[in-house]
Amino acid sequence: MKVAEMPVESVFPRLEALLPHVQKPIQYVGGELNSTVKDWDGADVRWALMYPDAYEVGLPNQGVMILYEVLNEREGVLAERTYSVWPDLEALMREHGVPQFTVDAHRPVRAFDVFGLSFSTELGYTNMLTALDLSGIPMLAADRTLDDPIVLAGGHAAFNPEPIADFIDAAVIGDGEQAVLEMTEVIRAWKAEGRPGGRDEVLLRLAKTGGVYVPRFYDVEYLDDGRIARVVPNRSGVPWRVSKHTVMDLDEWPYPKQPLVPLAETVHERMSVEIFRGCTRGCRFCQAGMITRPVRERSITGIGEMVEKGLKATGFEEVGLLSLSSADHSEIADVAKGLADRYEEDKIGLSLPSTRVDAFNIDLANELTRNGRRSGLTFAPEGGSERIRKVINKMVSEEDLIRTVATAYGNGWRQVKLYFMCGLPTETDEDVLQIADMAKRVIAKGREVTGQNDIRCTVSIGGFVPKPHTPFQWAPQLGVEETDARLEKLRDAIRGDKKYGRNIGFRYHDGKPGIIEGLLSRGDRRVGAVIRAVYEDGGRFDGWREHFSYDRWLRAAETVLPGLGVDLPWYTTRERTAEEVLPWDHLDSGLDKDWLWEDWQDALDETEVEDCRWTPCFDCGVCPQMDTHIQVGPTGQKLLPLSVVK
Ligand code: SF4
Repeated sequence: MKVAEMPVESVFPRLEALLPHVQKPIQYVGGELNSTVKDWDGADVRWALMYPDAYEVGLPNQGVMILYEVLNEREGVLAERTYSVWPDLEALMREHGVPQFTVDAHRPVRAFDVFGLSFSTELGYTNMLTALDLSGIPMLAADRTLDDPIVLAGGHAAFNPEPIADFIDAAVIGDGEQAVLEMTEVIRAWKAEGRPGGRDEVLLRLAKTGGVYVPRFYDVEYLDDGRIARVVPNRSGVPWRVSKHTVMDLDEWPYPKQPLVPLAETVHERMSVEIFRGCTRGCRFCQAGMITRPVRERSITGIGEMVEKGLKATGFEEVGLLSLSSADHSEIADVAKGLADRYEEDKIGLSLPSTRVDAFNIDLANELTRNGRRSGLTFAPEGGSERIRKVINKMVSEEDLIRTVATAYGNGWRQVKLYFMCGLPTETDEDVLQIADMAKRVIAKGREVTGQNDIRCTVSIGGFVPKPHTPFQWAPQLGVEETDARLEKLRDAIRGDKKYGRNIGFRYHDGKPGIIEGLLSRGDRRVGAVIRAVYEDGGRFDGWREHFSYDRWLRAAETVLPGLGVDLPWYTTRERTAEEVLPWDHLDSGLDKDWLWEDWQDALDETEVEDCRWTPCFDCGVCPQMDTHIQVGPTGQKLLPLSVVK
């Protein structure tokens, strides 16, 4: 589509005329509490930030919220937000020539210096292409001119940006706070000098910092069998490997200070505080844990201050203590008690969105329920059998789980959700069928503890997707038919149980989206043509069950890939060997590839590895490589005395 000339003016008058004809127009109008509109002409570097999903999912995203605030706090820097528009508005925007806009001041995205997208999942890639096209930004990075922004990818999916290498100008891996400020300075200087050397020059300056990956400066060479021979920089001064960014002291970055309060309904409406980053539990499937090492805790006083200021700034009635495994904070009991005490009268609820089974305890359960809110509890044993939990290094025994669940039921919960994966390396039907037995034991224990029959347990299970920068990056993914057959056996085992079956809810995702996520996760540059074909065939919102079409992806893969000597199974169900060059090897997450391989071998031998927070370092490579260290408490400080100010 061709979007006509875009003056740097609000597109709102043109957009407004379309809004009565679309669903939930409020999501496009902006003006949320704590949103910011800065003077366009007063800024010399301007960022458009996108979470490439609908407003209701994108607005609560912490990553975007943090960068939005960090950038807007800077003199001469401006940041605005944009989200994916639903297909009804997209059609009208195309018809009326309205470009992709920011919700803050409704400025056209193409007018910004940087268009930064945060990808938590690879299933957002087609939404990026929609946004580029609606913006009037050429889809291929090679076709862009000085009139176009630098298209930048970040977020966890950016740790392998190769499938979108043709569409992005750059990618940043790791924590974004310092990275966006460093990039801003490079761009500011280049603009102040009159933009010498055009796009190529500014991208080269960014690449030479060592922390910005610019795909065009790397050539990929392939072997005859389709594997990568090597990836080589094609410019001098560009590093062979691009480093991830790590913010060491979270207390120095207490963002968001002014969280956005949504106008339309969103998936989370609460004040969220990230209590630590990183995780060294070592679950072998977990990309988030591996790529965010080392562990860095926010101090108990830092958490207390952020909660207090954030609640004042927003009026939210719930506080979410975020991290990859919140009960693992070294002072979580004091944090929970301190917050529950402080907000007892205000009836502010607390939630720990990610809670490990073995770290949950009675005190914590009590604190969480004290102020009257008792939402369901979710635990993630991930694997049904003790054996498979050893393979994935999820050191949770069934005894731990039952003990924890008994605590939860004893403290008034009636609903427990258990999350599992299907298709883990070495898994058999038997491993998965043990999930049914576990669920039955959970209900039996709940009945015993409470003396009541109305205990419910929901089993939620999805297909396992091997991810880059994890020990399972070499693993074969289980195919669609095999995954579905295994899930059906489990469903039959649960439903067929007369005594407990009716109390067990069963939710599962079939194997199809997982295989496509697998293609996009471990794909290389050749996969870009598949993404584009899917987009052109109407693919949008692939993370949404009702919009995802496996047939569309299969069609595109079968059309595009054979001509390149590869196919869908080659990317997904094929096991990789130790010597294979992986598409993301030149992106340095800090993890040592030899260590990852050893850990993969340990998985196959069912050998577990401890958490380095509580045992000696086991040399994953991150700390020496990144010049970082583990940073955990306890600090001995107390949350309460510091900040009860009336
Ligand atoms: S290098 Fe050692 S201490 Fe640092 S995260 Fe890895 S295992 Fe833990």
